[in-house]
Amino acid sequence: QCPWGAPKTASISCSLADVMSEQLAKELQLEEENAAFPEVVAVAEGPFITGENIDTSSDLMLAQMLQMEFDREYDAQLRREEKKFNGDSKVSISFENYRKVHPFDSDSSEDEVDWQDTRHDPYRADKPTTTPKKGFVGKGKDITTKHDEVVCGRKNTARMENFAPEFQVGDGIGMDLKLSNQVFNALKQHAYSEERRSARLHEKKEHSTAEKAVDPKTRLLLYKMVNAGMLETITGCISTGKESVVFHAYGGKSATEDGKVIPPECAIKVFKTTLNEFKNRDKYIKDDYRFKDRFSKLNPRKIIRMWAEKEMHNLTRMQNAGIPCPQVVILKKHVLVMSFIGQDQVPAPKLKDVKLNSEDMKKAYYQILNMMQRLYKECNLVHADLSEYNMLWHDGKVWLIDVSQSVEPTHPHGLEFLFRDCRNVSQFFQKGGVAEALNERELFNAVSGLNITADNEVDFQAEIEALEKMNEDHVQNHRKKVSTFSNDGDPPICDE
Ligand code: ADP
Ligand code: MN
Repeated sequence: QCPWGAPKTASISCSLADVMSEQLAKELQLEEENAAFPEVVAVAEGPFITGENIDTSSDLMLAQMLQMEFDREYDAQLRREEKKFNGDSKVSISFENYRKVHPFDSDSSEDEVDWQDTRHDPYRADKPTTTPKKGFVGKGKDITTKHDEVVCGRKNTARMENFAPEFQVGDGIGMDLKLSNQVFNALKQHAYSEERRSARLHEKKEHSTAEKAVDPKTRLLLYKMVNAGMLETITGCISTGKESVVFHAYGGKSATEDGKVIPPECAIKVFKTTLNEFKNRDKYIKDDYRFKDRFSKLNPRKIIRMWAEKEMHNLTRMQNAGIPCPQVVILKKHVLVMSFIGQDQVPAPKLKDVKLNSEDMKKAYYQILNMMQRLYKECNLVHADLSEYNMLWHDGKVWLIDVSQSVEPTHPHGLEFLFRDCRNVSQFFQKGGVAEALNERELFNAVSGLNITADNEVDFQAEIEALEKMNEDHVQNHRKKVSTFSNDGDPPICDE
């Protein structure tokens, strides 16, 4: 919206010939000039005091006329001196700056003289601007209050200079512009919001460069948690991934807002607020019906919070099913605090980093098989990023982490994700020498309870996709039928 408001459309009705007429233009200009300086123009043209057509009734006018004549003579003298001084010299100096300039001199066009330098500038607030406390100056008839429209308008115009330098205020300063308070305030508002906008743009740049360190907003969130006594100290960074940074912290003495006791050691997962990496992960959340309705309405920053929220919901489900995983402590925006898997600041090693003996390896395999089944059946989840990178070995067992991308099996690509998980697990344990390890297809059937009989990978995957398609059609029809029940716009988030 234009801060200047809608311009009043003056309706001048005249013919095209009139508009194009040069004569008319000249006439109009003359008329305008005469209206502005009726007497002065006459004086400037004729010699000094001819006695004709001159209104001598005003003292002020007389004084101005005298002053003008004086100035003219002074200038003529100056020019003579200048000429004499310079002579025939190729280099000449100019006395131009010494010339008299005054507002009524019709010779001094604006091109020659920057009148703002030499005349009283009505838009520069008189320093110091003294609007006395009582709110007016002068006495009797000459009283000027701070509400004086002209003074106030000029002051407002002058105050436009205080706007941010990059804010264009137009060429109003060059005219006798009087801004009403209403217009000035609208402009000021606009200038401020423009300033904030550019600040935001700058901030965005700052965020996108914050690769390893946390951005100021996150730092504030963390600081608040320490300040509230939920965390004792944040000791350092455990991992910087593409999508998240994980910190270690010692738990504080005070409980969370909902009365949860804080574990002695915590892991803080900060979801990165740079958006690039998350774009690739859209498919995990966009098609998750739990978040579907919200997804389209949200800005990217909120979507990142949803990743954190998703991890929290999924961890809680797993916790309830007794699957070893970090326990959720608290979620604040894109920062998720959970219990630390490890001890004395040392995180438990990833399965890929730990050298297990064959007995532990076998134990780990059966545990994972069992966890995958429970994850599928009891939590109604597919991990979707399961591999030796996201399993920790701690206390003689395997712990699952990193479940922000986990989806329900009915997700349009849920079964494909599950198959990928199975391939990772199966390959890891087969390479690790576990003879009993099922191959990926057997594992898939064992986890999902489905009975896909294809004996090669291509056919197997084709069947998976067919199943997903069938499920999707079913979901579509089902949703149509029940759509009348869920008209509150909220997604059917899992109840923990
Ligand atoms: P990313 O999405 O970056 O892979 P993860 O959740 O996998 O995020 O965490 C990255 C790393 O941080 C993990 O590989 C693990 O070493 C460590 N980590 C994450 N959560 C915990 C936790 N609760 N306890 C101990 N270490 C953790
Ligand atoms: Mn990970």
